Amino acid sequence: MFPKRLSEGYRAFLGGRFMAERSRYRMLAEAGQQPEIMVVGCVDSRVSPEVIFDAAPGELLVVRNVANLVPRYEPQGDSQHGTSAALEFGVRALGVKHVVVLGHAFCGGIRAFADHHEPVYRGDFIGRWMSQIAPAAASVGERTGPEDTDYLHRLEFASVELSLQNLMTFPWLRAQVEAGKLALHGAYFGVATGHLLVRDPESGRFEQVTGP
Ligand SMILES: [Zn+2]
Repeated sequence: MFPKRLSEGYRAFLGGRFMAERSRYRMLAEAGQQPEIMVVGCVDSRVSPEVIFDAAPGELLVVRNVANLVPRYEPQGDSQHGTSAALEFGVRALGVKHVVVLGHAFCGGIRAFADHHEPVYRGDFIGRWMSQIAPAAASVGERTGPEDTDYLHRLEFASVELSLQNLMTFPWLRAQVEAGKLALHGAYFGVATGHLLVRDPESGRFEQVTGP
């Protein structure tokens, strides 16, 4: 049975937001989507980019995966590259002007990598997927123990940094950046605090976006 929560939520959407934005939906259907911003986010249910950025339909192109990772450009091989395909769609087909890698606090994927937790980490996919952040882990120092939450935070930030570097391994993406047509950004959502930190491109430090 289809979850009642969804059918009820849909009805609320239909009578509320859809009614209010009906003309926008119709225009988007006729003219096609033209989002200027692409977000690479985590599957985490607490970190929905459309909610955090208060986005209207058609504004954000979002790809979400475990721990908001961008893999390195790897056109060969037999892997299925869902995130790379989404980047190709966003950057080459739609011509987005910004790509944002959105990390977050309390990331289960990052913790799985740090803890090598059974059974998830030894499952079919997560361990291999998260092994991509090994270079980020090498850059953040030692973990003092399971309660070393600062280590997890450092790893969350370092993995955003690594994803930004990996974005530049895509030749057609790099060409857009070098031509000044595409900007890359790192950001981090605090979940419990609601704080959004944005990476300063000059210093590489993440700084809090202040309120109104
Ligand atoms: Zn996460």
